[in-house]
Amino acid sequence: MQKLDPRARKVKILATTGPASREPDMLRRLFKAGADAFRVNMSHGDHATHAQTIQAIRALEKEFGRPIAIFCDLQGPKLRVGEFKDGQAVIRHSGHFTLDRNPEPGDETRVHLPHPELFGLLAKGQRLLINDGKIRLRVIEADEDRIFCSAEVGGVISNRKGVNVPDAEIPIPALTEKDRKDLAFAVEHGADWIGLSFVQRPEDLAEARKLMGGRGSLCAKIEKPMAVRRLDEIVELADGIMVARGDLGVELEPQEVPPLQKKIVNKTRTAGKPVIVATQMLESMIESPAPTRAEVSDVANAVYDGADAVMLSAETAAGEWPEEAVTIMDKIATQVERDDAYLDRVRFLDTPPDRTTADALAHACMTIADTVAIEAVTVFTGTGSTARRVARERPSVPMLVLTPSMTTARRLALLWGAHAVVTKDIGSFEEMIAKGKRMALRHGFGRAGSKLIALAGVPFGTPGSTNLLHVVTLVGNELEKHGA
Ligand code: PGA
Ligand code: MN
Repeated sequence: MQKLDPRARKVKILATTGPASREPDMLRRLFKAGADAFRVNMSHGDHATHAQTIQAIRALEKEFGRPIAIFCDLQGPKLRVGEFKDGQAVIRHSGHFTLDRNPEPGDETRVHLPHPELFGLLAKGQRLLINDGKIRLRVIEADEDRIFCSAEVGGVISNRKGVNVPDAEIPIPALTEKDRKDLAFAVEHGADWIGLSFVQRPEDLAEARKLMGGRGSLCAKIEKPMAVRRLDEIVELADGIMVARGDLGVELEPQEVPPLQKKIVNKTRTAGKPVIVATQMLESMIESPAPTRAEVSDVANAVYDGADAVMLSAETAAGEWPEEAVTIMDKIATQVERDDAYLDRVRFLDTPPDRTTADALAHACMTIADTVAIEAVTVFTGTGSTARRVARERPSVPMLVLTPSMTTARRLALLWGAHAVVTKDIGSFEEMIAKGKRMALRHGFGRAGSKLIALAGVPFGTPGSTNLLHVVTLVGNELEKHGA
């Protein structure tokens, strides 16, 4: 097995796979450069290709002995135009353009819109934004067969470009037929996280949850104004949240996104769930080996916001510099976390612990680590819940999570500060302390003389029983005494 030191940073990196990165060699390079989790984007590629990617990630996990999260991102009800005679057409500025039900290839005057729900729903004055908002149409007249628009901003439109309709609540479920098939594929192939796109209502999550049947964690992507309005309910029902800034910045105004990013990060962190900041983080690196200063600041600010993870999209999926993008993201995050002011900033939240024993102890971990020289918090957990409550406190030291569950270990790859190791079940207090010490030494979380915090619940294996905090000192010969 290859040895890889624990990451020096606490924030995690989620890298999207694609043509530029799904071969085993490139996946290995991205992992070594700092990717903790990989996103499989179901909007592109077929199941056979995704199965190969997943297999290659699992092989990597074995090679390095470190759990990796696989995040299968469902396309969701993304609206798209049909196709064009020449593959594309130019819509003139201030000209007219029609979307209709005619499946014939389009031209510069019209195109097929293969979404019957939209006809009769849209009203005069509402907007249709095409190709990430680059083309802006406004409805002049809409009936059951056609949507006649003026082009406020024209441009090149090509086959199957995305359409956003920010002014209307669309009466379609968050899961399309394709999503259902993709979801079944994802859970069958052991996806650790399912990303649900274009969530509009809390019920959308309930529906996905039912289809998942207890397999995988559910991440709600916040990219619709409707979801922002019902954020509290959505955060409560999801296992994690993604600030999906790409579509969010099209559905809303771009300048509305930064304050929302902070609000969504805060809300999700308060709930003790992982939150991912996504999209265009190092966008220019799709083509360039170096990011812009603004992109570097953007990544840094997401880390200062206390996000659990930052994401790379096309930079690693289809860009020319995937490995460089991960390397630079890793460097930016590491630098921010070295800043003396970092912890004060990420603890700015007014998040008193819940009135539970687990939270009281998680909070104590944070204050003990601030008071005496502690090297790491060793958390024993089955479901990962104790680890999430500790991470919520943003302690100064890393967290070594010991769990008998591979599923839990993989899911935690997106949690701030968690380094998960799968171990056999433990039966007694003595065994727990011995194992905690041994694993800390073996995985580089301490040396002779180091102090550690051990956090667990007894009796072992009872979820929600966190009730034990012990400070231990490593002698240094634990490995020999107990064997590896
Ligand atoms: P996408 O989601 O890349 O699947 O569109 C992220 C976003 O919209 O920001
Ligand atoms: Mn999106």
